[in-house]
Amino acid sequence: MSTLVPDGPSKGTITLVHLYPREMSIYGDLGNTRALASRVRRHGYTAEVHDHHPGADFRDDAHLLLGGGGQDSGQARVEADLDVIGPALRSMARDGVPMLMICGMYQLFGRSFHTVGGQVLPGLGILDVTTRGNDKRMIGPVCLDTEFGRVVGYENHSGSTVLGDGQEPFGRVLSGQGNNGEDRTEGARSHHVIGSYLHGPLLPANPMVSDALIAVAAERATGRPFEPADLDDPLADEARGRQVRRLVG
Ligand code: GLN
Repeated sequence: MSTLVPDGPSKGTITLVHLYPREMSIYGDLGNTRALASRVRRHGYTAEVHDHHPGADFRDDAHLLLGGGGQDSGQARVEADLDVIGPALRSMARDGVPMLMICGMYQLFGRSFHTVGGQVLPGLGILDVTTRGNDKRMIGPVCLDTEFGRVVGYENHSGSTVLGDGQEPFGRVLSGQGNNGEDRTEGARSHHVIGSYLHGPLLPANPMVSDALIAVAAERATGRPFEPADLDDPLADEARGRQVRRLVG
């Protein structure tokens, strides 16, 4: 467990849990957890970060959950534990706990993942999406329109994901492949659960997504509305702005 304490008096303690950092954290996805914890601190709250490993007790009192990408083999290694903590995750999702699941964990938050090797990994069904592995990988920079504004990131997946009827995407693809390279959808969002293929990691370049997650988590943690600090993000804004200009003009 690590704790980040704000400079002034703390407005409250927000508990973040990162699921399976050993098995599911490729392409720097651990950076999402670091960016969130640091932003929680900069907003004047204390961030308590816990790693959840297979077989360990699960913190079902977490205010915010994160998960990253992984190889098909990493996904298979966490299946048994996901089965154990699945009921808690489903009930937390229903209850409105904010969650950000990237790539491999996004696929496992869906209904099922059919790997290119013919394995079927059952998902949690928190997001109404189904994924099938392909021979072709979808790789490259991505730009999306989302309800949080323009979001940029980088995708690298062979899984092709289809949304169920009525399932909201995370965003609309302006450049890149997204869920399947065909329907211009990217990721999925239900209530406060976001699934996305975007690495980068996603949050450092898109702090407005961090703030949306933190706002909900802060309210759950303190019972009071989120009290944001007035933060400046010149580097993130420049990084995102450059990628948007390069990809969509
Ligand atoms: N194994 C999955 C795929 O390639 C997930 C990859 C990832 O998490 N980057 O579709």
